[in-house]
Amino acid sequence: MGAREPGALAAPGEIALCVPHLAGNEWAYVKDCLDTNYVSSVGSYVTRFERAIADRVGVPHAVATVTGTAALHIALLVAGVEPEDEVLVSTLTFIAPVNAIRYVGAIPVFIDAERTFWQMDPDAVREYTTTQCTWSGGVLRNRVSGRRVRAILPVHILGHPVDLEPLAQLAREYALTLIEDATESLGAAYRDRPVGSIGHLACFSFNGNKLITTGGGGMLVTANASWARRAKYLTTQAKDDAIEFVHGEVGYNYRLTNVAAALGCAQLENLDQYIDAKRRIAQTYTTAFTNVSGLTPMTEAPWGTSVWWMFTVLVDPDAFGCDSRALLHELANEGIQARPLWQPIHQSPSSPSEERRACPVADALNAMALSLPCSVGLTERDQARVIDAVLRAGRRPLEA
Ligand SMILES: *Cc1c(COP(=O)(O)O)cnc(C)c1O
Repeated sequence: MGAREPGALAAPGEIALCVPHLAGNEWAYVKDCLDTNYVSSVGSYVTRFERAIADRVGVPHAVATVTGTAALHIALLVAGVEPEDEVLVSTLTFIAPVNAIRYVGAIPVFIDAERTFWQMDPDAVREYTTTQCTWSGGVLRNRVSGRRVRAILPVHILGHPVDLEPLAQLAREYALTLIEDATESLGAAYRDRPVGSIGHLACFSFNGNKLITTGGGGMLVTANASWARRAKYLTTQAKDDAIEFVHGEVGYNYRLTNVAAALGCAQLENLDQYIDAKRRIAQTYTTAFTNVSGLTPMTEAPWGTSVWWMFTVLVDPDAFGCDSRALLHELANEGIQARPLWQPIHQSPSSPSEERRACPVADALNAMALSLPCSVGLTERDQARVIDAVLRAGRRPLEA
């Protein structure tokens, strides 16, 4: 059997990596949209979904967007990030936040991960600001290029919070905007505060494989009322006069539809239940793998609470008996979807070579990591099948 696109719906008998769970009021709310003829960008569910996310995250304002990537783009614009500014961003991430940095013409500075929880390393950020930058006249600049450093964009990967306090401290010290990419971590907490409530701005995604889904969708949250107003303005074509169609500047059509927002309202009602399921799945894997030589399951940092979005293990080939990619193929042969972590973006062919910086931890994690099936609806029986297949793959070379 060939490797299928990860995240694709599973074929019969196959175990998917991470698929949506639609078991609440989704049908009822979508039917309401169809019954009332409010299927597009006007309708009560958009406002209701914005309110519900703002309340859940504990931030006054939320603006719905068509994708999480669009939310990141708008967050950078309202933060005033300009062409040629530098933005410090996690290298070990899905590429979306880096693409958003490029949309505004800014330059990403790739920051390595820390070894233990695989998140953006605050010490690496501190090292960059102290050794590569100058602070003068209230502006932090790259000492070689002279570029202004404008923002820090940490990504809470895999459902786990970044260690935010040292980053918030750096942001205060150097007048930088802190933008949380919380797209993979709705419901996670940093020191008892919801992720998304600590930065000046934060973004969520409701793509099909995220904690909750609207099919596709995103949200920007902020405590800054004028930024929220500006985000709404930019996401709705920057319209100054709705009757005469007067537009004050270049805007975007980044609106979420009422149908999508209706799905989101229903999904959010079940978020806590989904997080419980994710945590249970993670505990079962952790128990099964803890004493297996060469397998290191994800763990939770003392500074936070993970929502275990994408359960991931590190595979040490010498100790385990095969490497992460061989394990990926073994699992695919048994109809089990798995996937490596993303190519670190400092290695991406889309990143110009002059932006390459050494990020050895992210490189090592990329070589060793594999994410395993963790859909909210994963059955105990299917999870037992995954565990069994992983353990057999590790033993195989010894038996040969
Ligand atoms: C999913 C994701 C996004 C946003 O994705 P969209 O598909 O545009 O909603 C952004 N950043 C990260 C790290 C993601 O995983």
